[in-house]
Amino acid sequence: MNFKDYNLSNEMLNALEEKGFVSPSEIQALVIPELLKERTHLIGQAQTGTGKTAAFSIPILETIKPNKKVKALILAPTRELANQVSDEIYSLKGKKDIRVLAVYGGASIENQIKNLKKGVDIVVGTPGRVIDMINKGVLKLDELEYFVLDEADEMLNMGFIEDIELILESTNEDKKMLFFSATIPKPISEIAKRFMPEHKVLKVKKKELTTNLTEQIYFEVRREDKFEALCRVLDYKPDFYGIVFCRTKSEVDEVTNKLKARNYDAEAIHGDITQGLREKALDLFKNKILTILVATDVAARGIDVSNLTHVINYSIPQESDSYVHRIGRTGRAGNKGIAITFVTPQESRKLAQIKRETKSDIKKESIPDVEDILRSKEEVLVASVEEIMLENDYKPYLELAQKILKGKNTEAVVASLLRHVYDDEFIASSYSKIKNVKVEMNDNTRLFIALGEKDGLNVNKLLKLIHEKTKVPGRKIKDVKVMANFSFVSAPLEEAELIMKTLNKGKRKNDKPMVEVANSDKSSGDGKRKRSRGSRSKNRK
Ligand code: ADP
Ligand code: MG
Repeated sequence: MNFKDYNLSNEMLNALEEKGFVSPSEIQALVIPELLKERTHLIGQAQTGTGKTAAFSIPILETIKPNKKVKALILAPTRELANQVSDEIYSLKGKKDIRVLAVYGGASIENQIKNLKKGVDIVVGTPGRVIDMINKGVLKLDELEYFVLDEADEMLNMGFIEDIELILESTNEDKKMLFFSATIPKPISEIAKRFMPEHKVLKVKKKELTTNLTEQIYFEVRREDKFEALCRVLDYKPDFYGIVFCRTKSEVDEVTNKLKARNYDAEAIHGDITQGLREKALDLFKNKILTILVATDVAARGIDVSNLTHVINYSIPQESDSYVHRIGRTGRAGNKGIAITFVTPQESRKLAQIKRETKSDIKKESIPDVEDILRSKEEVLVASVEEIMLENDYKPYLELAQKILKGKNTEAVVASLLRHVYDDEFIASSYSKIKNVKVEMNDNTRLFIALGEKDGLNVNKLLKLIHEKTKVPGRKIKDVKVMANFSFVSAPLEEAELIMKTLNKGKRKNDKPMVEVANSDKSSGDGKRKRSRGSRSKNRK
């Protein structure tokens, strides 16, 4: 497939050529012909980094009738993303007489208003600023041809749903709505149903969500050893260029500060860091001057880099979608990458869930041990000394060297200098011990079954029923509890899935399922987590 096969304008073909786009990505191949053929509401779903922006921008640019009244409004969750989208549209429009404007908070509203007043055809904005502009009466949305929600799942995560509804109220009825997202969580499909009863769903299949160029591994590690494990990875891989993902802003700060204290060149990005600093860090990172970026999911969304060597899940993501987003930052565009997830023993269920839902093989590996790290560091040092000597510019220092060496043992002199320069960086005892832990992967899933004593069941009868219907033997099922109206059983992951699938068969979409995963996360997980965090901060320096 080639862009030339589509019925695109010459301006567009030239712009594509200029950008170096030759063939459409999968999502583009699905969406572009569809929208060129006929305007429809649609949802486009594909992994991060697969070219969703151009998938909607190309047909919009090709089909709107520009008259300097806003014809397309594109909402994006962050300023960075709004800028990226407007840049992409700007570069795709080529010679077309179409005006594009990005509006977002944290930048002068006066300038944005001035530009809006000049007449604009396409507005890309963050929800808050768009609402401001509507309220000020400078953004009129009653001639829209397209309303686009970009990164819809992230919009949801950031709590923008009500804002989106508010904005929609100011728009004309007959526009077409396009939702683009890496994942389509329920609230998004519900909004879609509500605002666009008839819409197409075009998606790039889930199995392709994680790329096989990314090697996915996990380390079993205690919470209190995570930082040490991170340092070992960084030391073991001298060419490390990657993002360390944390769950919260304060964790981002904590990890970054500790890294800096150990002389690693790392910077943090998250929502509470000022725009200026964030942009500076991103800039350094994109140019590889900075090689370690510590980030929250949301802050990392706008980072348009594809050649990371590593993605570290310092905290295991809460959703498999966010796992996919995170690791999508490496192994792109033909580059190999490694995604490392730190998993504490309490998080085995989460890991199992992510493995299952992303259908990816996340392999267990051991944290690099100190000997290997030192060997790797020594190799680098030896190689760089050889390289330095090749530069052959040491002559001015020869005399001084002779003075220093006079009557001394050469090795002792070099060793003293190394000690002075590298302090204890090459000494094994400078690394703290990491305790071995085991993440139990034969995790049992607790199932809720909507059958109980009232249906004539007891433990034996329930096991028999399950065996008859699913062929899962009773010995695989543990902790059976039959209550008056419902029951609970625990079964290994695969069996649990089979039980759910088989016993829920024939149920219609809106029926209550017969079997569900019991909601035990809330009762066990969170509480424990908070306590262990408190105790950790006390016994660390
Ligand atoms: P998404 O929104 O799906 O995360 P983007 O639209 O940001 O992805 O695209 C990711 C990168 O791929 C961008 O740098 C974009 O310019 C580039 N890109 C998009 N489509 C193509 C294409 N057909 N050929 C080459 N590069 C492309
Ligand atoms: Mg995008």
